[in-house]
Parts: sequence; structure tokens; C-alpha cells
Amino acid sequence: QVETLKTKVLEQAQEIGRLRSELGGTDAEKHRDLLAAENERLRQEMKACEGELRELRRQQQAPCRDCPHLQENAGLQEQLSQLQREAEETRARLVELDLEVQQKTNRLAEVELRLKDSLAERAEEEERLSRRLRDSQETIASLKSQPQQIKYIIKTVEVESAKAKQALCETQSRNQYLQEQVGMQRQVLKEMEQQLQSSQKTEAQLRAQIMLYEAELERAHGQMLEEMQAMEEEKNRAIEEAFSRAQVEMKAVHENLAGVRTNLLTLQPALRTLTHDYNSLKRQVRDFPLLLQETLRSARAEISQAIEEVHSTNRELLRKYRRELQLRKKCHNELVRLKGNIRVFGRVRPITKEDGEGPEATNAVTFDTDDDAVLHLLHKGKQVSFELDKVFPPQASQEEVFQEVQALVTSCIDGYNVCIFAYGQTGAGKTYTMEGTAANPGINQRALQLLFSEVRSKAADWDYAITVSAAEIYNESLRDLLGKEPQEKLEIKLCPDGSGQLYVPGLTEFRVQSVEDINKVFEFGHVKRVTECTNLNEHSSRSHALLIITVRGLDRSTGLRTTGKLNLVDLAGSERVGRSGAEGSRLREAQHINKSLSALGDVIYALRSRQGHVPFRNSKLTYLLQDSLSGDSKTLMMVQVSPAEKNTSETLCSLKFAERVRSVELGPVSRKAELASWPSQEQLEVTKGLLVLFLPPHPRATPGRGHTSHSSGQLSGRAASIRRKLQTSG
Ligand code: ADP
Ligand code: MG
Repeated sequence: QVETLKTKVLEQAQEIGRLRSELGGTDAEKHRDLLAAENERLRQEMKACEGELRELRRQQQAPCRDCPHLQENAGLQEQLSQLQREAEETRARLVELDLEVQQKTNRLAEVELRLKDSLAERAEEEERLSRRLRDSQETIASLKSQPQQIKYIIKTVEVESAKAKQALCETQSRNQYLQEQVGMQRQVLKEMEQQLQSSQKTEAQLRAQIMLYEAELERAHGQMLEEMQAMEEEKNRAIEEAFSRAQVEMKAVHENLAGVRTNLLTLQPALRTLTHDYNSLKRQVRDFPLLLQETLRSARAEISQAIEEVHSTNRELLRKYRRELQLRKKCHNELVRLKGNIRVFGRVRPITKEDGEGPEATNAVTFDTDDDAVLHLLHKGKQVSFELDKVFPPQASQEEVFQEVQALVTSCIDGYNVCIFAYGQTGAGKTYTMEGTAANPGINQRALQLLFSEVRSKAADWDYAITVSAAEIYNESLRDLLGKEPQEKLEIKLCPDGSGQLYVPGLTEFRVQSVEDINKVFEFGHVKRVTECTNLNEHSSRSHALLIITVRGLDRSTGLRTTGKLNLVDLAGSERVGRSGAEGSRLREAQHINKSLSALGDVIYALRSRQGHVPFRNSKLTYLLQDSLSGDSKTLMMVQVSPAEKNTSETLCSLKFAERVRSVELGPVSRKAELASWPSQEQLEVTKGLLVLFLPPHPRATPGRGHTSHSSGQLSGRAASIRRKLQTSG
């Protein structure tokens, strides 16, 4: 029994060893460690996923609507899908691991079950062994109570049982130890179970977290998909818009193209003609210099020929011009002779304030609307008509008057002597007509202006010198208005060279070159007159004022010389002073005036009637103006009248004087005599000294021209009667 017990114990031990080896903690521990390591790895992967997810989210949040990020987005998506794949793999691996854990747990449960079985078996065995032990002890006790023999047997048994007892003890202790070991194993198993549980818990947690992450991932994915969708839509929309726009543009371009094509079609023939034109033009341009040279040569030849022709024509013209000049002079002289070189104009001034008011100031002069040479005067209820060469009504301007006079003035440049007299009673407008006002100048100023402009226009061929003298004749004495000693009486003398010419020694003559110079001369003379007279108006009405302008010319081309003299005379008042019973100096003045005016009348009469004898010497005035009154000279008598009722008797006298002077008939015989008597213009052109006057040769009443003297005699009778009438009226 002991033997069997021993084998049994041995078996038991073996079993325990097997069990221990089977339960060997190393495998489970290894498995656990493996699981833990796997877990750790998963955790790491999870963390990496989280980081990537965060990064993705951040990138999503960042404004990346612009297309350049799309590529990045695609890359990220790819990464995401890879990560998803990895997560999927991890999940599969987790499932595998779970399965493994399950298997392990099952096996553990199995092992536990077997452990329990073996424990129960051992307990049974122990029970059986303890029972056998008790049986053996009872047997031993019964055997002791039996005889010696038995005693001996008992003793051996006792000896043997001691040994068994010791073995039992040993086995018991060994059993104890084994039980302790089993307990320890149980403890370890418990701990392992706990560990397994906690690892399962962690796994569950991890799984939940994975689920969470997956959900988040899903959401992010969904969002991303949505955004991608939206972007896709936007892209499609943009593409559609661009497409439609492109279509419209394409259409327009097509239309344009069609237009251009048609244009091209129409332009092609034009281009062809243009090319043709261009080629022909090119040819022309190539030939042009030659053509031009040819043309220039011929043009030059033509021009030089034309110039030659012009030169010869010019020479011919110059020759003709000189001949014409002579002819013109002859014709002019003839014309003057035919027309009469003495003309009589009348000028009626307007009614002025000085005429006063009432019946005395009424107008007594009327004009003929059809004939500008006729005027009617209402005198003492009777209308008397007068015919002159020209009559200026009150409204006639200075300009108009000068228009009629300017031909006379210009003839002075041609070398003629001219006299313009203003005749009339004081206040009739003599000074107004001759001098005028500053704003409205009279004949003097205008004549000089005209002379200057004429001289300027002829400056190309002629050299001219214009000189001016101013003199006054008062009480039959001549005074220089421009001289240093105006009180000095000047004398008219015969030239000592025996030429028969007259000159006034000491008469100042100013050379003038412009209107400004003339103004200065006028001012100078005027100032002198004013300072010397207590009453200028009165004085001027009793003296004759003379402005003598001499124009000397030289024709540079012909060498012809001319001298013309323009005498502008503002006569003393023609009123009949004698009637008012003046005495003393006033009477003397009146007598002198009457004498000189009637002498002027006589001279003009004698000249106009071509008398053989002209009484120049009867007054200082006529004597001084002798050369300007005779020959081809021209004389204008401007008779000034007042239209006022109170002046009608004086007006009547003035007009009668005018008409008488004018109405002298010219006879052909007397004209002949005149031609023989007076020096020709050519004779007058010779100038010497300051102011040269011509003394006419004595009328040559030759025996062969008896009819001439006869005619003169006839006319002198009429002159005497006029003189008589003038003297009585003056
Ligand atoms: P006279 O010299 O004959 O004595 P004035 O020339 O001094 O006369 O003239 C007398 C007045 O009459 C002046 O005040 C002058 O201005 C004026 N007068 C003369 N003629 C005219 C005219 N045609 N138009 C306007 N006023 C004139
Ligand atoms: Mg006057």
C-alpha cells in the first residue's frame, strides 16, 4: 500500500509539475506583454492620426478657396484615404487580437477547470489515504493486543509503520507545499485575470476613442466632400459661364471674321489697282528728276527771255512815260486854259449862336437841289439867285470842301503855282475854312498832309523839298510871321541878277518834313500873332494872313526839276466899314482893306479876261502873289457867306463880287495874248534863293497883234466898271 501510495504521490507530483508547466506564468505574461506592446503601438498610431486630423482641420479652416490649394487638397485627401485604409487594417488586426484573447481566455478557463478537477482528485486521494492510514492504525492496534508473535509482528509493523509514518509526514509536508504552490498559482491567475480585465477595459476605451475619431474623421470627410462638391459645382458653374461667354465671343469673332473676309474680298481688287498705280507712280517718280530738270531748264530759259522782254518793255515804257509826261503837261495847260484857271466857290456857314435869336437870325439862303452851283438869297423880300463854280451848303464838311480843292493842291507838286483865297465878311467862316479847328482842320492842314502823302508815294522816282513861310499884310505893309522881328516891315524887291524876278529879303522859310513840323510852324506863327495883338480876332479880320508852301522836286530818272508854290490866303473881312462912319486908324484900316481887296478883284478880273495888262502893283497882296496868279497858275476864290437875315446886305455884296469875278468871258484872242504875255511853267521852275517871285515881262502889244490890244481895251472897260462897283461896295 505504501508503495502504491508512494507511486501515487509521485504521480501526483508529476501531475503538479505538468500542471505547473502547463500553467507556467511565462506564456500568459508574454502574451500580456505582447498585447500591451500592441496596445502601445496602436495608441501611437492613434496619436499620429489625431495630429494629422488636426492638421487637416487646420488646413480646412484656413481660407483656401483659391484654386492653387486644390492640388494640396487632393494630396491631403489621398493621405486621408491612406490613413483610413491603415485604420481599417488596424481594426482588422484588433479583431484578430480580440479573437486571440478570446481563445486564450477559453484555454485559461479550461486550465482552471482541470486544476479544479485535479485538486478534487487529490482531496479524494488524501481522503482515501487518510482512511487507509486510519485502517492501518486500527489494524496495528488490534495486532498489538494479540500474542507475542503477534507482538513481534506488531513490533515489525510498528517499526514498519514508523517508517510509513515518516513517509506520510513527508508526503504531507510535500502536499502542503504543493497546496501553497497552487494557492500562489491561483493568486497569480487572479492577478492575471485582473490584468486581463483592465487591459480589456483599456481596449474598450481605445475602441470607443477609435470610434470617436472615426466619427470625427467621417464628419471631416463629409465636410470635405461637401466642400469639394461645392467647389466642384462652382467650378462647373464657372466653366459653364466661361463656356457661354466664350461661345458669345466666338460668335462675335466669327462675325468679325466674316466681315473681314468680305472686306478682304472687296479690298483685293482695290489692292490690285493700288499696286498698279503704285508701280506707275514709281516709274513716274523715277522719271521725275529728269523731267524736272528739263522743265527747269526750259522754265529758266523762258524766264530769262521774259525778263529780257520786260527789260526792253520797261525801257520802252520809260521812254513813253517821259514823252507822256511832257504831253500831259501840255494837255494840262491846255485844259486849264480851256476851263479857266480861276475858279470861284461859295461856302455858306451854318447859323451859329453868335447870330443871336429872332427874325435877324433867320436863314436867308437856300439852295438848288438839282444844281450844286446855284444859291438863292432872300434880300429885302426879293430872291436873288447866283451861279458860281460850286456852292457848299452849311452842312458841307471840311472834308467835302477839301475834296474839291485837292486837285489844285496836288498840281503844286507837278510844278504849278496855286492861290487859294478865302473872301467874305468877318464871321462868315474864312478862318474856319482855311485853318479850321484842331479836331476838324481846314484847307491849310489838309493840303500839307496831302502834299506829304503825295511826295511819299512818289519818293521812288522823285526827291522833294517842302518849305513853308507865313506872312501878314496889314495896312499895306508885309510882315514875317515866322521871323525874329515880326514888327519889321518887309519889302518886295527885284532880283539884282536882272532876271526880272521878285523876292522878299528876310522872309523866313522853314523846311518841313512831316505834319508835326507843320504844326510846330503854325503854332509858332500863331503864338507870335497873339502876343503882338491886343485883340487877335479884330486884328485878323483887318489883315491878310498868308501861308506860302513851296514844293521843289527833282525826277531822278529824267533829271527834270519842278517848283510849285501853294499860297493859302485868309483875307481880311470884306465888310463895308466906311458906312458906319469910322474914323482915324479904323478908317485907314478899312481903306487899306478895300484897296487891296479891289486890287485883287481887278487882278483876277484882268487875268480871267486875259487882259494884256494885269494891275499886280496896285496892292502889296497882288504884287506879292504875282507869280502865283499869272501864267499857268491856278486860283481859287472861296467866297464865304453868312446865311443870317441880318447879314444879307454883306452876303449880297460878297456873292456879287464872286459872280462878277467868275462871269468874265474868255476870248480866243486874249488867250493868245496871254500865252505870249506870261512866262511858261518851265520858266517858273528855275528856283533861286529863299522865296523867288517872278516879275512878269511887260505885255508885249506888238503892232502885228493889233486885235489883241483892241480886245484888251474892250475888256479893260468892263474891268474898270467892276472896280468901280467893288470900290463903292467895299
Ligand atoms: P471869319 O474868319 O470869316 O471872320 P470865322 O472862321 O472866324 O469867320 O467863323 C466865325 C464863326 O463861325 C466861328 O465860330 C466858326 O467856328 C463858325 N463857322 C464858320 N464856318 C463854319 C462852318 N462851315 N461850320 C461850322 N461853324 C462855322
Ligand atoms: Mg478870320
